[in-house]
Formats: sequence, structure tokens, C-alpha cells
Amino acid sequence: MQDLSSSKTPKSLAFIKGKCPQCRRGNVFSSPAYGFALQKTNEYCSHCNQRFEIEPGYFYAAMYVSYAMNMAEMLWAGIVTYYLLDRNLAWETLWTYVISILLVSIVLSPFNYRYSRIILLHWLSPKIKYKPELDVEHLKHKA
Ligand SMILES: [Zn+2]
Repeated sequence: MQDLSSSKTPKSLAFIKGKCPQCRRGNVFSSPAYGFALQKTNEYCSHCNQRFEIEPGYFYAAMYVSYAMNMAEMLWAGIVTYYLLDRNLAWETLWTYVISILLVSIVLSPFNYRYSRIILLHWLSPKIKYKPELDVEHLKHKA
């Protein structure tokens, strides 16, 4: 049996679950993406105390990531609608396209909010690096 308390968290899992990029244990968000509570980004990692918004206005950069994700999703929704309508691009189908693209955009907006910040923290933040010594069940002393 593997000792789970000392095993290291894979990057992919930390990414999907929205964990801190430094220790891969603490949550970046205080609530799930889809739920009754409004999504909030924690200020500090509850496990290793890494500050997530490393400088003021840092998450503005996430807006560009979110924008790119949104564009890709809307394009995808348009293509799917095109095939669902049997490749019909007639003028009467315009609203079907508009509604399906807007619907996808609205439904995915909590997802985009969350993952644009996770992408920013995990892939686009050279200042935050994974520290395996922090990826343990109990930290001896907080950093
Ligand atoms: Zn952490």
C-alpha cells in the first residue's frame, strides 16, 4: 500500500481540482465552480500560505485568458450548431446560432472564471513554483 499522506500530487490533478500551484494541496477557491455560493478566490493558500494575487491587479491578466477561452468555446458552439442544423446557414437559422452561442457562453462563464485563474497561476506565473517539500499532509511550520 502506498502511503497517501506522503505521496506527491500530480500537476494535472492539482490543475483540475483548482489546488495551489506551490503545494498542490490548498484550494485556490473557497467554493465549487457550480453551486449556490458565489465563487471566491482565497487570498492565501490555506496549506502553504502562498498569496494567490501575488501583486495588486494580478488577476486582470486572467481576463485575457478568460477571453481566449470564451472565444474558443463560442467558435466550438457555432460549429456544433452548424452540424446539428445539418449544415444550414440560411438566414432563418441566425437566432438558433445566436442563442446557442450565448447559452454556451453563459453556462461556461463560472468555468472560465475559475480556470482562467488556474491557468494563470499554474502555467503563466514564473514567480510561483511547485515546491515538493510543501506537498505533504502536515506542514511542520507554515512558510
Ligand atoms: Zn499552497
